This record gives sequence, C-alpha cells and structure tokens, in this order.
Amino acid sequence: MTIRETVEQAQAQTLAPYATLAQASKGRLREEAPCPIRTCFARDRDRIIHCNAFRRLKHKTQVFIAAEGDHFRERMTHTLEVTQIARTIARALRVNEDLTEAIALGHDLGHTPFGHTGERVLNHLASSGFAHNEQSLRVVDFLENNGLGLNLSAEVRDGILNHRTSRTPSTPEGHIVRLADKIAYINHDIQDAVRGGELSMEQLPKDCIDRLGERSSQRINAMVVDVIEHSEQGQIRMSEEMAQIMQRLRAFLFENLYFGGRAQRQSAKASALLEILYHHYMDQKGTMPQSFENIAEREGRERAVCDYIAGMSDVYATRHFEALLIPGYDNIK
Ligand code: MG
Repeated sequence: MTIRETVEQAQAQTLAPYATLAQASKGRLREEAPCPIRTCFARDRDRIIHCNAFRRLKHKTQVFIAAEGDHFRERMTHTLEVTQIARTIARALRVNEDLTEAIALGHDLGHTPFGHTGERVLNHLASSGFAHNEQSLRVVDFLENNGLGLNLSAEVRDGILNHRTSRTPSTPEGHIVRLADKIAYINHDIQDAVRGGELSMEQLPKDCIDRLGERSSQRINAMVVDVIEHSEQGQIRMSEEMAQIMQRLRAFLFENLYFGGRAQRQSAKASALLEILYHHYMDQKGTMPQSFENIAEREGRERAVCDYIAGMSDVYATRHFEALLIPGYDNIK
C-alpha cells in the first residue's frame, strides 16, 4: 500500500460521512497517474501554491489601491487569511482539509489588478462580460503552464468557480471557503480601514461590535465558532443572527468604504488607467506578449485582452500605462 493509500484510508475512517474523500474524486480533465505520497487534493494545493498567478497575488490590491502602507492587505494576505479560517472550520467539522485548502488558495487567482474596480472595468468593456471567479477557473484550467493549465481535480475546480455569493458549490468544503472568504474580508477590511483613518470604530454599527467584540481576532472567532456550531450534516451555515450581523457589516462597508472616501478616489483613477490599456491592446495588434496574441488568434481579441489585463499586478499595469503615455518611459518589457 502506498503512503497516499494509507492517508486515504485514514481519512475515510476519521472524516465525517459527508466529507469529500480524495479516492471518490470525479478526477481531472486529463487523466494522470496518482502521486504515491499525496492525495489528489493535496497535490492540487501544491500546484496552486507553485504557480505564477499565485505569486502575482502579492502585488494585487485588496481594497486600498497601491497598498499605501506595509500593513494593508493585498490579495496574497487575503488569500492566506481565507485559507486559515477555512481550514479551522474544516478541521472542526471533520471534512477534507486538503480540498478546503486547495479551493481557498486558488479562489482569487483570476482577480484583476486594482481590486473589484478592475473587475468592473473589464466586465463593462468586454462584450461577453468578466467575472473574477470564472477567470480563476480559466487560470487553473488553461492560462497557467503555457496553456496546459494545472489540470486540477473536479472538486477543486468546482469550489473555485462557485466561491461567489450568487453561486452554489457542490461540496461542503466549497461552502466553507465561500463563508471563510466573507469572514476574512469583512474583518480585515474593517481593520485596514480603521488603520488607514478611513473609518473609526465609533462609526461601525454599535450592536454588531457589541455582539462580536472590539478586536479583529474576537470578531473572526465569533463568526468561526458560529459556523462550527450551526453547521450540521454537511450543511455549512451560520445562525440567522450572525448572518444578519455579517450582512449589515457588509452593507456598511459597501456604503462607507468600497464606494466612498479614498478607495473611491483611487478607484476612479484605476478605472481610467485600465480603460486606456484595454483600448490600446484591443486596437493595436501585436502589442501583447506572443502567448496572448496567440489566444487572440484562436479565441478573439477581447478574450485575450481580458486574460492579459486580469493577470497583471497593480505595479505591472501602472508601468505599462506609463510606458504608453509618458515620454521617456517606453523601455518596458
Ligand atoms: Mg476572496
């Protein structure tokens, strides 16, 4: 028996009956020999962490454009926080921690530069629209590895595609990541906003803070414990009370942070920058790296321009914008 088979057997004996088992996976798009040591989900997690798109998350904005301080989150730290929150819940509920981790690490790989501003710009400009969850799947299925993709398991791909609020993942592990994503961003965006002087604690809805706690760690803990206590039989959920608190905090952040203040001012500039880049690459053939020009030949220019821009970090997009518009800034590769 291989090490992997021993691990799979142990998981089948110790995980909850509704956990997703690696040996019951629906498999990969292209069949591959199994790893003698790691389960398919552990192997997928490793493929994600070693891919180029994962490293670029480091220089992509979460909310505060161009990370104006060392302690603000970017997509990488957001992703790591989601992963740890999701793993805590997965372990407590005895579902598959490797699958949970793989989905969480991959969920935002398709995110654009400049946070949701970038997503809105591409969605507005491209005739077939743009959504970061669909792009995350395109990254792992196709864009990574020179067009071969990472060839991940069906359950990881499903969790990545369906981590968005409007969609439904097919595994409890996918549901956990979807909730952990919200728990992470609501709490770290509050902390970053207070640190950045955008919001004060007094502005936050008082009854929500009274219920959850003054500190970020207390608030995360209250939400995580609530999910663990109210999920049953593989149905991952929060109490009605906690879901409402979360909804109110989310609405508060949309009104006061995402669509107001500094984030809003920076967002207007980021939109203008990305629109100029988009039209430039759309109008002038041969201006993108060859791999994207090849995609344009096969799948149309819009698709290729969206792939190219979505893959850019904030820094890369800004440098290319400078090279296009500022004299003397044209020596860029
Ligand atoms: Mg996310």
